[in-house]
Amino acid sequence: METIILAVVIAVVVLGALGGLVVGSRRRKPLPPPPPSPPDITAPPAEPHVGEEAETPREEPRRTIEEVDLPDGAPPVAVEEPPVVEELPVPEIEVPEPTAGRLVRLRARLSRSQNALGKGLLTLLSREHLDEDTWEEIEDTLLTADVGVQPTQELVERLRERVRVLGTRTPEELRGLLREELLTLVGTDMDRVVKTEPATSKPGIVMVVGVNGTGKTTTTGKLARVLVADGRSVVLGAADTFRAAAADQLQTWGERVGAYTVRGPEGGDPASVAFDAVKEGKEMGSDVVLIDTAGRLHTKTGLMDELGKVKRVVEKHAPLDEVLLVLDATTGQNGLVQARVFAEVVDITGIVLTKLDGTAKGGIVVAVQRELGVPVKLVGLGEGADDLAPFEPEAFVDALIGD
Ligand code: GDP
Repeated sequence: METIILAVVIAVVVLGALGGLVVGSRRRKPLPPPPPSPPDITAPPAEPHVGEEAETPREEPRRTIEEVDLPDGAPPVAVEEPPVVEELPVPEIEVPEPTAGRLVRLRARLSRSQNALGKGLLTLLSREHLDEDTWEEIEDTLLTADVGVQPTQELVERLRERVRVLGTRTPEELRGLLREELLTLVGTDMDRVVKTEPATSKPGIVMVVGVNGTGKTTTTGKLARVLVADGRSVVLGAADTFRAAAADQLQTWGERVGAYTVRGPEGGDPASVAFDAVKEGKEMGSDVVLIDTAGRLHTKTGLMDELGKVKRVVEKHAPLDEVLLVLDATTGQNGLVQARVFAEVVDITGIVLTKLDGTAKGGIVVAVQRELGVPVKLVGLGEGADDLAPFEPEAFVDALIGD
């Protein structure tokens, strides 16, 4: 008897549950329309890279109960609901402005910050009597602009001689004299092209080094734009794994112009990121790989170990085509000390002077070229995306002394 009662109770409970399910499902909203197909993303390949695994969790397909009237007693049918695809914002690829003549466009900024030097020199040279005091003032003006002791003496000596030979001077003649002498100091016959086209096979490999805060990552991002503007394809290597957010920062720069960024885990091995970036660049058939590095000047040995290893590991693929040292022009003599340390650690092939828009010390161009014996190739003239310009001595000197 007890068994019969128990069976009846179970039957009632089961039927009740099924009935509730059917009623409940009827009350539920109909399924939403199928999600739109994923947007067409032109950028990066889906292949994972070092350290990316943790950041891209896979969408598990969600299982649910089919919402139909079930025949009495039939078990609920589990079906797969299509995965919910998040609407990713389609990155809008920007078209960077052409690089030719950029320095001319940015000349106003340069003039604003550097004008004091040129104007000061012209005013002094225009004095009727160029006595010892005046020449000393000219020297001081050049030294204040960070031209450096040796170059300053050379310039003053040559100017003295030419002014003496000239005798009477018109402002136009003085301007011409000063322009010529400043140009000689800055140098017009150095090769200032950023080397990105290797003789043998692609991609060109550029390593960007410098102390944190100088604008290294920003410069790497801006340089990617310069190259894209010139019709080249770029892969970025975020080998500054020590500074939190450096990789995100670089990736954002890259996405804006459709350049793929290879990154690693924070605090991970910079050399392995650099290696992977070049590997990726090769596989993608890219023209150039730009590698941003960490610039912790904790000890020279530490720096040497780090950068040395990055270089060695990258060169398992191919030799570096360019090693750019980024220096903050506002740091003056300190920048020169940094330049010396880096030059001992890696073979610098070009200098990028950043923040020239925010200092009257443009003379550092001359000083740092002398110090390292390598040319300034690029200058940073603002925080805007296209405020990095190939360095052109004529445009630079014209900005110093005004038209
Ligand atoms: P990193 O630590 O060397 O990688 O330095 P970042 O690339 O993060 O740059 C540090 C700061 O310098 C950022 O706020 C940049 O916007 C700024 N910066 C970089 N280049 C220039 C430049 O040419 N002019 C100005 N005014 N700021 C710059």
